[in-house]
Amino acid sequence: MENKNIRVRFAPSPTGGLHLGGVRTVLFNYLFAKQHQGSFIVRIEDTDQTRFVAGAEQYIFDCLQWCGLTPDESTVNGGPFAPYRQSERKAIYKQYALELIEKGYAYYAFDTPEQLEEKRKGVPNFQYNHQTRRQCTNSLTLSPEVVLQKLANNTPYVIRIKMPENETVTCHDMIRGTVDFNTGLSDDKALLKADGMPTYHLAVVVDDFLMQITHAFRGEEWLPSAPIHILLWKYLFGLDKMPKWAHLPLILKPDGNGKLSKRDGERLGFPVFAMDWTDPVTGNTTTGFKERGFLPEAFVNMLAMLGWNDGSGQEIFSLQELIEKFSIKRIHKGGAKFDYEKAKWFNHSWLQQLPVQHYVANVKPYFAKAGITITNDAYLHKVMELVKERCQLLPDFVEQSSFFFQHPEHIDTASIAGKWNATQQQFFVELIRNLELATTWDTENLEKDFKEMAAAHQLKPGELMLPFRIMLVGGKFGPHVFDIAAAIGKAATIHRIKHTLQLLQ
Ligand code: GLU
Repeated sequence: MENKNIRVRFAPSPTGGLHLGGVRTVLFNYLFAKQHQGSFIVRIEDTDQTRFVAGAEQYIFDCLQWCGLTPDESTVNGGPFAPYRQSERKAIYKQYALELIEKGYAYYAFDTPEQLEEKRKGVPNFQYNHQTRRQCTNSLTLSPEVVLQKLANNTPYVIRIKMPENETVTCHDMIRGTVDFNTGLSDDKALLKADGMPTYHLAVVVDDFLMQITHAFRGEEWLPSAPIHILLWKYLFGLDKMPKWAHLPLILKPDGNGKLSKRDGERLGFPVFAMDWTDPVTGNTTTGFKERGFLPEAFVNMLAMLGWNDGSGQEIFSLQELIEKFSIKRIHKGGAKFDYEKAKWFNHSWLQQLPVQHYVANVKPYFAKAGITITNDAYLHKVMELVKERCQLLPDFVEQSSFFFQHPEHIDTASIAGKWNATQQQFFVELIRNLELATTWDTENLEKDFKEMAAAHQLKPGELMLPFRIMLVGGKFGPHVFDIAAAIGKAATIHRIKHTLQLLQ
């Protein structure tokens, strides 16, 4: 493939939280662009002012920044084809709608909202299309004089595409191959609205042309719009200039069929948005992957594998590796079922793979939230190394390691008491004495002394290890018990043994 001038775009309508499917669209655009030393553009498609949501645009860029998917051109960093926000490009589109009328591919429609409402009442599933347009008030049914008069009087109108009655439009999709559409099945979509704003259909085609987009990756839900876009390309700019299309398979709910929705996430207890999204009207917040405790590396890796693989069985990929290995040919046609357990597996893998220094700053706020003050970063790093194997999500670090920083809140003495006997009691009393005299304090010596003492008492270390763990940790979990003793130090170790012995009396 030619490497020069590859230009792709992500074209979101800023209407709310960013669905993980949206981020995957960004990712595939980004990978393709970077692989070919091309440009990745973010264009804000906000021509539907009724759907405007405050803060939604900024939120999209925050999500992209978190994922490390930085646009080359956008509303934030500008670029040679600015502005990149369609509402600021309003003046551009009308001439193209007029050109379509001129060429006979579009027409003025003067039907008032009331008239259309009447029609909808009269005809079930009324559609403005090749069958009904002849009974409507438009420049196909009115005389040219009346049309001119209406325009001169500023009568409100929309401009509609005149869909051919019975033509086949072929979409050559990079993922799906050839997809044929019969034009008679589509309605005469509005291209320009009464307020002079273009609709999505006109704006997306005009801007893809003006911004010299070469490849358009978007969700499969846009496939039904493809024939309209292809016709507009044919009528306005020529099919040879049209971008190559790739409609990405849907991300499906884990149970049942259909697209994964925000509601599925709420129902099944997992995030669907990239980051927390707070609806400015209701004030309701929907949790994001970031706040749930995912690393961006894991989130991006997991998304890439939803619908793509490199054929080798490898599952863990860095963004750089994805850029190198990504190929459209290996994107599956079918939808990919979302699996939250697998998503957590990716995060767990990345927590092991990256140095803890890389994500310690993301973990710290969770300690603060739990009321644990970190005073020694080196100690925190060491603790994180010890427990990371047991962590899937960032907040797990707090749960898995709070006892390194504070005396356990609760000691599960019930799990010790059942098998507790005088010999064990005696062992721990003596252990305290020995520990008080200890001159070295490290995992190996602690373990060696402990085992020697156990042998002297004719006790199996196994019988003593669980009580010792519960004394230090509070419960039956945590890393190697002598690592814990070594880390928390002499005073805390002795204090915790004494404390539990008292509770057992
Ligand atoms: N504005 C559309 C959206 O909200 C873009 C679809 C496309 O990429 O053509 O997803």
